[in-house]
Amino acid sequence: MVVERDERTTDDLEQVAAEVGVCPKCELARTRTKAVPGEGQPRARVMLIGEGPGWHEDQQGRPFVGNAGKFLNELLAKAGLRREDVFITNVVKCRPPGNRDPLPDEIAACAPYLERQIAAIDPEIIVTLGRFSMARWFAGERISKIHGQPKRDGKRLIVPMYHPAAALHQSALRGAIEEDFAKLPKILAEAEREREVATERAKPPSEQMTLF
Ligand code: URA
Ligand code: SF4
Repeated sequence: MVVERDERTTDDLEQVAAEVGVCPKCELARTRTKAVPGEGQPRARVMLIGEGPGWHEDQQGRPFVGNAGKFLNELLAKAGLRREDVFITNVVKCRPPGNRDPLPDEIAACAPYLERQIAAIDPEIIVTLGRFSMARWFAGERISKIHGQPKRDGKRLIVPMYHPAAALHQSALRGAIEEDFAKLPKILAEAEREREVATERAKPPSEQMTLF
C-alpha cells in the first residue's frame, strides 16, 4: 500500500515538474531561463513554500540555492531537518524579472501546480515563507503578528514564517525566524498526534483504540 502511494506521489510530482518546465500560462514564461518546479522528499511531512525563483534559482532550475537558500538550510538544521527530508517550492515557478513581486494573475495562473503538489505530498505541516505564500491561508493577516503560530487547515497545520531573504539582513526578524524554526519539532509532534486522533475518530467505534 505504502509503495503504491509512493509511486503515485512521485508520478504526480514528476508530471507537475514536466508541465511546469514548458508552461506557457503567464508572462513569466517569456523571461525565465529555467522553470523551478520545486524539489525534495515526496513523502515529506514538512513542505515549505517561498515566493518565487531568484537569479540563482532561475539559472539552476532549483529552489532556494542562493544566499536565502543557504540560510534556509541553517534554519532547517535548527529544526533537526535536512533539505532531503522536506519538500521546497514557490508560489510562482518562474522568476519575476528583476526579482519584482509576482503579480496576482501570475500567482493565479500558477496556483494549480502548487495545489497538485500539496495534494500529492499530503504534508502534515506547510511552512509559508513570506507574504505571498502566507496570503493563501491568512488573507488580511499581518506576518509580524502571526508568525510562528500554526493554524489548522483540515488535516494539516499551516505555519506562517518570515521570508528567509528578509530575515537574513534584519536582526530582529532573524531572531524571530530562528525561534520559529526551532519550534517546528514540537509542532510536528502535535500534528502527528492530531492525525492519529482524526484517523481513530474516522473508524467505527468497535475498532477505535482508547485514545480519548
Ligand atoms: N526566494 C524565494 O522565495 N524562493 C526561492 O526559491 C529563492 C529565493
Ligand atoms: Fe507557468 Fe507558473 Fe511559470 Fe507562469 S510562473 S509560466 S503559470 S509555471
